[in-house]
Amino acid sequence: MQFNFDLHTHSNASDGSFTPGDLVKLAAESGVTTLALTDHDTVSGVSEALDAGKHYGVKVIPGTEISIDFSPGTMHICGYYLDMDNPELQAGLNFVQTARRNRNPRIVEKLNALGVDITLEEVKAVAGPDQVGRPHFAKVLVRKGYAKNTQEVFDKYLAKGAPAYMDKARLPLDRAIAMIQGAGGVAVLAHPVTLRLADMDEYRGKIGELKDAGVVGIEVFNSYQNESENQAFFKLAKEMDMIITAGSDFHGDTKPNVKLGCFGENVPVTIDEIIESIQLKRKKV
Ligand code: AMP
Ligand code: ZN
Ligand code: FE
Ligand code: FE
Repeated sequence: MQFNFDLHTHSNASDGSFTPGDLVKLAAESGVTTLALTDHDTVSGVSEALDAGKHYGVKVIPGTEISIDFSPGTMHICGYYLDMDNPELQAGLNFVQTARRNRNPRIVEKLNALGVDITLEEVKAVAGPDQVGRPHFAKVLVRKGYAKNTQEVFDKYLAKGAPAYMDKARLPLDRAIAMIQGAGGVAVLAHPVTLRLADMDEYRGKIGELKDAGVVGIEVFNSYQNESENQAFFKLAKEMDMIITAGSDFHGDTKPNVKLGCFGENVPVTIDEIIESIQLKRKKV
């Protein structure tokens, strides 16, 4: 089902395929009237998205999605309502961008050592102006016939544990939260299922820790989870008095199965309720 809002989207300022302006245009055409731009580790697409929002009548929320140092799974924290010009936010995001730039040539080396013919220039050519990510490597490898789709490239080469995987420095949780709060924003745990914890008791413990650290919400409804997982996290978020948010993680052609505004079937929360609870928290922080 498609809803009239989406709080988790990527443009080509990170690894989405649409420019920020075209993403907002697509939102308007799709009936998505509130859109948060949450590019990986950057806010560089936000001002274009805000301008487009005024043009197309879409309410654009300035955001980002920060990768956190965590195991066993993947922890991403979304920041919303950020002051993009905040110096601490900029410094923290620059740290991560540098780590990414240092990592990418190492992935090329690993791929070359595996006999894969690829250069960083080829990867940069399919990326946007600012940021090269693993999905861009995947695009080139699919084109060259090393795999039939993005997922197969990740499984064969790029996923954590695969032979061309190369870790990059990530921010610790407390630093990411401090950056978000320092820039006037609120921190929300994205797609909880990717933490890969064993059961709901472990989630209860971990989310308790996140809450103590300043995370105020959980992206309960998202495209990584099936409907029953969505409903299980909904129950847990309510029990733990966390703000319930929803987002698709739209990437355009990079993730062709994910549609804007689609993150579940039964979503018993409206965008007005979400924004109201976020604004209440912002006043308190
Ligand atoms: P990067 O930030 O460059 O490390 O790339 C992260 C992106 O790669 C995320 O947006 C995911 O969409 C994608 N990704 C990471 N792990 C996987 C995986 N195991 N399978 C498919 N896509 C993945
Ligand atoms: Zn992405
Ligand atoms: Fe994510
Ligand atoms: Fe994302």
